[in-house]
Amino acid sequence: MAATTVTRFAPSPTGRLHLGHAHSALLGWQAAREAGGRFLLRIEDIDPVRCRPEYTDAILHDLAWLGLDWNAPPRIQSRHLPEYGAVLKRLSGMGLLYPCFCTRADIAREVAAIGHAPHGPDGLLYPGTCHRLSAEARAARIAAGEPYALRLDMAAALARLAAPLSFEEQGRGRLRCDPARFGDVVLARKDTPASYHLCVTHDDALQGVTLVTRAEDLLPATDLHRLLQVLLGWPEPRYRHHPLLLGADGKRLSKRHNAPTLAALRQDGHSPAAVWTMAMGHG
Ligand code: GLU
Repeated sequence: MAATTVTRFAPSPTGRLHLGHAHSALLGWQAAREAGGRFLLRIEDIDPVRCRPEYTDAILHDLAWLGLDWNAPPRIQSRHLPEYGAVLKRLSGMGLLYPCFCTRADIAREVAAIGHAPHGPDGLLYPGTCHRLSAEARAARIAAGEPYALRLDMAAALARLAAPLSFEEQGRGRLRCDPARFGDVVLARKDTPASYHLCVTHDDALQGVTLVTRAEDLLPATDLHRLLQVLLGWPEPRYRHHPLLLGADGKRLSKRHNAPTLAALRQDGHSPAAVWTMAMGHG
């Protein structure tokens, strides 16, 4: 018998949900319901600066108004920081993490000194400054209380792989991964002991997600997520990265491009059914 389909919607509470979010949420919900599976909700609120609890409440309210239901209480990431800490400990025990004391300005200076600035999917590639520190220098700076992030030693991580990485993208077959593009990516930030990439892969495994439905702007991140899954022995979900919803002007709907929020549409008198139609791109 095929395994139950488990999907999820994993918004970050950095603002009100807009039509683009509703599109993502509905696709995940529909995929689960059509398969007789489970739909889960996860609030990705580990960023203490950008996330606000009132947005979490609003997200739950907006989704319920739309008519969505979920099969377990929402997982609120900020309440699970010790679990992410335990994963970091595992990676550290495997010799795959190192502390990075650099500020953004340090990195910009170093990159300028090298004379080129290669970019990865997450921005500037880290030039490896703190990778070159001696164990003594690291210990002294930690003992002095200098704040640090934890970076993945990408070369060491790739060296552990027994086979090339790939994943199953619905409708496109197996896609090859190239996680090296991320360089020594941050897995624990200075201000919060976790990162998006770490939490998302941990939680998809923990919550038993079998089909990750999300917008196609996260397709490149999947390469890194597959690497973490293999390093940590977590199962491989299937993926469906959907195109971003376009507005009437043909531009992608996003917070920056003034996508209408569900709250505004509701206030304008639109019914949940009408918003559902708009969110599915038929409105
Ligand atoms: N929290 C992420 C966001 O709002 C989505 C994560 C995911 O679906 O994997 O962009």
